[in-house]
Amino acid sequence: MQLLDGVLVSGHIKEQIKQEAIDWQAAGGKKPHLAAILVGNNPASEAYVGSKVKHCDELGFDSTLLRLPSETTEAALIAEVQRLNEDPAVDGILVQLPLPEHISPDSVINAIDPGKDVDGFHPISQGRMVLGQPTFLPATPYGIMLMLEYYKINTSGMHCVVIGRSNIVGTPMSVLMSRASNPGNATVTLCHSRTRNLKDFTLNADIIIAAIGKPRYVTADMVKPGAIVIDVGINRIEDASRKSGSRLVGDVDFDNVAPLCSYITPVPKGVGLMTICGLMKNTLQAAKQKGI
Ligand code: NAD
Repeated sequence: MQLLDGVLVSGHIKEQIKQEAIDWQAAGGKKPHLAAILVGNNPASEAYVGSKVKHCDELGFDSTLLRLPSETTEAALIAEVQRLNEDPAVDGILVQLPLPEHISPDSVINAIDPGKDVDGFHPISQGRMVLGQPTFLPATPYGIMLMLEYYKINTSGMHCVVIGRSNIVGTPMSVLMSRASNPGNATVTLCHSRTRNLKDFTLNADIIIAAIGKPRYVTADMVKPGAIVIDVGINRIEDASRKSGSRLVGDVDFDNVAPLCSYITPVPKGVGLMTICGLMKNTLQAAKQKGI
């Protein structure tokens, strides 16, 4: 079994991004600038946004973090998005999800200028992705593709089972893995909450990508020996042995599944770090698209 090491791979990719940004600025290009909007104070969202801003610093990008109270109206949030759309200093815009119940994420995402949609969630970005046209890929699936590419894993002809059909992970992942590209060229089965007998599918998978949001849901009896397992899940569970009283686990029962696999991502230090790489690559691309 080989661990797909998010620390190692993201370290390499961040070095590349940093150098590319330096070269871009040396040639007269603009310093990339990411603007993030956080509505409310969900602790997990605080941590994710904080990490994105920290990575901007690390890579020499500018960043702006706009904090809005949880009672912000949908109209006020959209007005902020439109203000950032028109701000020439800002290259990329992200609105941290989930949003409070009274705000429609679709309406807010639709308001983002597709040229600044570095999360890749806008319908234009997703449509271009489906058609195989150049676009901003959603950060987590993009990061997973970068991980597979780094380890030179040839997925051509493999049966890939994606579990989860969210717009931000499962669905785009299924599209990218089936595209005529490498990584890609896989035969994809997209499983979800209404799938009957999930195990019948996963046991036939050469590669399993789990994006379910249920701690340790994929167990050893569901995995074919030699399979590649990509664990997207981030779930906090109680752990009395930790000072904090909790720890993070994925959607895969890592301890029992890992010995069966050819490759597997850990949680933490796996896909989460790759997501940041996807976002930062998109932000640099957004700055470069403006030209010199
Ligand atoms: P989501 O809740 O939007 O989607 C979950 C999907 O799982 C749904 O499509 C649902 O149909 C499917 N599902 C639920 N129960 C199932 C079952 N019993 N069998 C089969 N399918 C089932 O979640 P999401 O936003 O796609 O995120 C999934 C997980 O990935 C979460 O744990 C989230 O925290 C994590 N996540 C991690 C990153 C990262 O960077 N590592 C990024 C985004 C999301």
